[in-house]
Amino acid sequence: MSGIRRPNIVMILTDDHAAQAIGAYGSVINTTPRIDEIGQLGWRFDNCFATNALCSPSRASILTGTYSHVNGVTTLVTPIDASQPTFPSLLREAGYRTAMIGKWHMGDGEGHDPQNFDYWDVIIEQGEYWNPRLLSEDGLRVVEGYATDVITDLALRWVDSLDGDDPWCVLIYHKAPHRPWEPHPRHAQLYTDSIPVPDTFDDDYATRSASVRRALMRLAENLNIEDLKVQPPAGLDYEQLALWKYQRYMEDYLRCVAAVDENVGRVTDWLRERGDFDDTMLIYASDQGFFLGEHGWFDKRFMFEESLRMPMLLSYPAAIPGGRVHDGIVTNVDFAQTILEAAGVEPHERMQGRSFWRDLTGIEPTPPAAGMYYRYWEHDDVFHHAPAHYGYRTDRYKLIFYYNDGMGLPGTGAFRYPGEWELYDLVEDPHELRNVADDPAYAAVRADLEAAMLAEQRRLGDEPHPSQFIRPGDALVP
Ligand code: CA
Repeated sequence: MSGIRRPNIVMILTDDHAAQAIGAYGSVINTTPRIDEIGQLGWRFDNCFATNALCSPSRASILTGTYSHVNGVTTLVTPIDASQPTFPSLLREAGYRTAMIGKWHMGDGEGHDPQNFDYWDVIIEQGEYWNPRLLSEDGLRVVEGYATDVITDLALRWVDSLDGDDPWCVLIYHKAPHRPWEPHPRHAQLYTDSIPVPDTFDDDYATRSASVRRALMRLAENLNIEDLKVQPPAGLDYEQLALWKYQRYMEDYLRCVAAVDENVGRVTDWLRERGDFDDTMLIYASDQGFFLGEHGWFDKRFMFEESLRMPMLLSYPAAIPGGRVHDGIVTNVDFAQTILEAAGVEPHERMQGRSFWRDLTGIEPTPPAAGMYYRYWEHDDVFHHAPAHYGYRTDRYKLIFYYNDGMGLPGTGAFRYPGEWELYDLVEDPHELRNVADDPAYAAVRADLEAAMLAEQRRLGDEPHPSQFIRPGDALVP
């Protein structure tokens, strides 16, 4: 790093942008030339995963470099203690000017609003697509315009207001393309042709756990009028309704993405005009993935690939080569230490990730991660019925345990029943359609994964749920 000035840092984070809707990841449903450009000039990460595929928890993990059970943001209703050390707070202590602009979404109010930034200006709660309310140290105000444009405007304006040569770090956190998917009229002409459905659109969940089958994330049944904006035509059967809703959903989702792509391009062009592009670490990522009709679903939460995978593209031409693909396992917990190492700043001792900075420079890289630990804590909320679960993913396998605390199997009257396991062989079954948790041919694989998962859970200071040790045949607790 000697001889290279400390990088400026721009992190553009979107909300619920699936890799399947990014050209660089092989999208067949849209194009995103300005997002793709970051990967062409830098790196594309093919196995970057959220350790808890939900908005607030992933944001907290990115900022603090810790897992949910450490930073306390386990669910949507567990707000952050914003005094925790974060990568921007450490950058600031090291002389960076720092700002947080856009969707914070880790709680509002005393103790939960952003802290330890030079400037913050955030949409409150889920925020609005149009004329968003923004909160800063000066109070709450409405800014007229479309949120994706407004957030970019505010971020560029703040950087342009800075004097002097000290580096800066700006977080540009968009609301888009989060539900309820309200695009700008300038994109109304896009995606009017039939949008192809994914291979697993008609998934019948045949080998899957009851936990997965009961989730309320199905296109045909669970997209509502606020999502769709118009009533479906009368007389459609289930398959026709699923397809109609998919088209309506995807039109708006992809149009919201189009505005994101334009605004990413604005940031890139602006960096070039300032002469800062080469000296800036520019990151594009989403807080987690999203189901775009895979398994007949929308939304996220589950540990399946479409939800688990975060799109992640990173350029920094002065220090790392371009046009590369990183296929090792990295997670949202790793971001903080990676950014800090690139900036030459020591991480905080509580941070739990692995910096992947040296993977990119090729200078003394550390051993790659053997696997990643996942835990979704939000248990069985009334809107999605996604059960809490934890799991472990390696380059080939994925083991998942749904602990089902307090949930009764339909018709059994049981207050509690044993948790359920799923195991997927991602080489033999890349679409995760065949659960082999109880297949004798995979017994040894499952035992190894279970041991590796528990070891990683323990190493990270988390604990198994008691129902993990209830076995089939054990008495149900009435
Ligand atoms: Ca999200």
